[in-house]
Amino acid sequence: MTVRTRIAPSPTGDPHVGTAYIALFNLCFARQHGGEFILRIEDTDRVRSTTESEQMILDSLRWLGLEWDEGPDVGGPHGPYRQSERGDIYAEHAQRLIEAGHAFKCYRTSEELDELREERKAAGQHLALKPADLALEPQEQERREREGMPYVVRMMVPDSGTCVVEDMLRGTIEVDWGQVDAQILLKSDGMPTYHLANVVDDHLMSITHVLRGEEWINSAPKHQLLYEYFGWDMPRLCHMPLLRNPDKSKLSKRKNPTSINYYRRMGFLPQAVTNYLGRMGWSMPDEREKFSLEEMMANFDIQRVSLGGPVFDLDKLTWLNGVYLREDLDDRGFLQALMSWAFNEEYLKDILPQVRTRVDTLSDVAPLAAHFFSGMPAITEASFSDVKMEREDLVKLLQFLVWRFESVSSWKKDSLLVEVKALCEHFDLKMKAFLAPVFIAITGSSSSTSVMDGMAIIGSDMTRARLRHAIEVLGGVSKKQAKRLEKEYREL
Ligand code: GLU
Repeated sequence: MTVRTRIAPSPTGDPHVGTAYIALFNLCFARQHGGEFILRIEDTDRVRSTTESEQMILDSLRWLGLEWDEGPDVGGPHGPYRQSERGDIYAEHAQRLIEAGHAFKCYRTSEELDELREERKAAGQHLALKPADLALEPQEQERREREGMPYVVRMMVPDSGTCVVEDMLRGTIEVDWGQVDAQILLKSDGMPTYHLANVVDDHLMSITHVLRGEEWINSAPKHQLLYEYFGWDMPRLCHMPLLRNPDKSKLSKRKNPTSINYYRRMGFLPQAVTNYLGRMGWSMPDEREKFSLEEMMANFDIQRVSLGGPVFDLDKLTWLNGVYLREDLDDRGFLQALMSWAFNEEYLKDILPQVRTRVDTLSDVAPLAAHFFSGMPAITEASFSDVKMEREDLVKLLQFLVWRFESVSSWKKDSLLVEVKALCEHFDLKMKAFLAPVFIAITGSSSSTSVMDGMAIIGSDMTRARLRHAIEVLGGVSKKQAKRLEKEYREL
């Protein structure tokens, strides 16, 4: 048997460090067994998936040196590797389950579903809707079918009993079937849900081992049952511990930069980031902190993964990156790193339009464009002294902007403008007045290149990190204040 693993990202935003972490472990596991590593794009969420996000995911994994053997861009014998191109396959498999009595068409409306949930709640039952709850009288089912009402396809699930799932790291996991709902497999638009598409594809792509984040544990019983329904062997499951912030909360972009784009823009070396990700819950047999991808592959053993939530600590990563920069690179290597980081045509061509209309000599460029090549600007509270706003209002403005920016899915100047305009209205400020403190937070000075273009160029996580940094410089937000601000923000 050839070991085959995969990473199956959904292209719905910035490339997440968590995706790279899971990809790295899948790759090492495959290579250690002389196997293959596949990349599949799970873009069944047609509203949130974008080709731009897909491209960023491919670029950043490749930047980190995590190469795949089969995927949407390199092809392979099990394609297509994008779920949106495999619609017929899922419909066919859903039909197969319906015919075997393992799935059913559900014509329930969303109002009815709410009522059913209320009933279960009132009866003190778990909220998971079961096939029996959802069943309609035969005549009613027929009527809705005849009238062509919208329906979804759901899977049959047992009412009670215990589902036992084996996990490579966690051993036996037991889940009460009573808590498992009659999962939707095909949505009313005919698109599959994650569960159906994932199981069908893992089987058709001959995946033997599924290493994925622990947030998917609850899906395992449904997946196991689907494998049984289809009569297929299930790949072995391995749920990896989630990455955490230093305060042990789940790593989230609210607190820390989570986009690989950020680490790239900040000037981390790919080999340092990959090395650091390899330290997430795993260690080399001799516990050394610095190792290459090849060394990790050669020494890999999944049983050395420890389940205590690995902490993704920016300070430690920064330290490790410094070691690589200072000790690993000779002059030539350093120069190359610098060029591929920012001193290259691709990045400079975005910046030149921002500076060329504002300079008299070429030597004006570097000071004017410094914020495109730096991390956090050197600002203090005094940097904001010309802004005619109370400190508290300033903090509020910056915090609201951070929150608005968190939900921007396509990081383009136009989408950023929409958010800025909405907040100008809320604060009853002219755009110029609103942008004055933002300008300082992003560029570190009160006169520089266009701040809107600047934010679009430096990217989402870098922008938010600088805004958060400015908030800290201005004294930060206490827990109490944060609560008040969140309340006001929700009412926007
Ligand atoms: N599309 C899922 C994700 O975005 C894949 C989960 C899995 O590996 O099964 O993480």
